[in-house]
Amino acid sequence: MGSGAAHPGKLASQAVLALSPYVPGKPISELQREYGLQDIIKLASNENPWGPSPRALQAMRQAVDEVWLYPDGSAHELKQALAQALRVNTTQVTLGNGSNELLLLLAEAFLTNAHSAVCSQYGFAIYPLVIRATGARCIEAPALPASARMLHGHDLAAMAAAISADTRLVFIANPNNPTGTWLDNGALRSFIATAPAHTLVVLDEAYYEYARHAGCEGSIGWLQEFPNLVILRTMSKGYGLAGMRIGYAISHPEVADALNRIRPAFNVSNVAQAGAIAALADSAHVNQVALRTIAERERVQAGLTAAGIRYLPSAANFLLVEIGARALEVYEQLLRGGIIVRPTVGYGLAQHLRISIGLPEHNDRLLAQLTQLMRAA
Ligand SMILES: *Cc1c(COP(=O)(O)O)cnc(C)c1O
Repeated sequence: MGSGAAHPGKLASQAVLALSPYVPGKPISELQREYGLQDIIKLASNENPWGPSPRALQAMRQAVDEVWLYPDGSAHELKQALAQALRVNTTQVTLGNGSNELLLLLAEAFLTNAHSAVCSQYGFAIYPLVIRATGARCIEAPALPASARMLHGHDLAAMAAAISADTRLVFIANPNNPTGTWLDNGALRSFIATAPAHTLVVLDEAYYEYARHAGCEGSIGWLQEFPNLVILRTMSKGYGLAGMRIGYAISHPEVADALNRIRPAFNVSNVAQAGAIAALADSAHVNQVALRTIAERERVQAGLTAAGIRYLPSAANFLLVEIGARALEVYEQLLRGGIIVRPTVGYGLAQHLRISIGLPEHNDRLLAQLTQLMRAA
């Protein structure tokens, strides 16, 4: 056996070898195995504990009968439903296996090692990964300073200043994960309006169904004006379909065409397509769940404030909570109590924990344990 054969992983590209992998929230089954716990709640991945529309569940159960068939690779019916709901043309819609896949496709289609892409400090961790995997340079613009009203939020002026002649993509999450912070609509629109024509602005609206209640809406209308705008949405968060993997991009048809050239032919399963179509038809469910989540978030915020625990403002279904130097210890203690939250040390936020909003009884349990742990300090 040749000496190279002992380390076949080293055959990967330099760009890939330099990556540090994304660390997802701990799955419930893993905590059960490691700690022997039974009664576990997961507030670590911003899932929607109310789940999808019952109509989506029913449609998916029916679709299971057809899993021996390949799905419709062009997802005709789902694209029609999305186009109608969003008032765009079907040629503007690209479907992804979660919006995570669309991030990969965007990077693959628009970046090479001769290019750069801009993202923000404390931005979503997947952006630097997909950028660097292509060999492109990742330019991280500093977040807003601690003195800003939107502490740790995206600094659009810094992001604009980071764009150079070789910049093909800018990634903006609104609201941002893990901070929960959001952008002023007018400021965001001006940013997009002044972005150079050679740079696509990728506006990731994963939390749109929550954020629209905070005034983050209207970006779809900007597509007509700005051919370099790409909007990403997902059914993983507000629609409660994280396990089905359905995301979509809305863009200029030429951008959609570029993405479709490299999109795996059958990237959205027939069960997922059926669930998504039924879920879209039940907007009342999504809206009701979003409003309940926001009411619960406000209740958790009030509980934290009463306990003297600080957190960042949020337009999403999670809170970035300021724990202090003991953040990882508190994370461990919550695990032992059967509550999974998300450490943000990998984001450079070592003093914080990101906590998703769960069902009322989950939130009660979280508040009780967290306030007790913080008091014990
Ligand atoms: C959760 C999330 C996504 C990805 O979700 P998918 O499940 O892949 O659709 C994308 N962007 C942000 C900011 C997220 O928080």
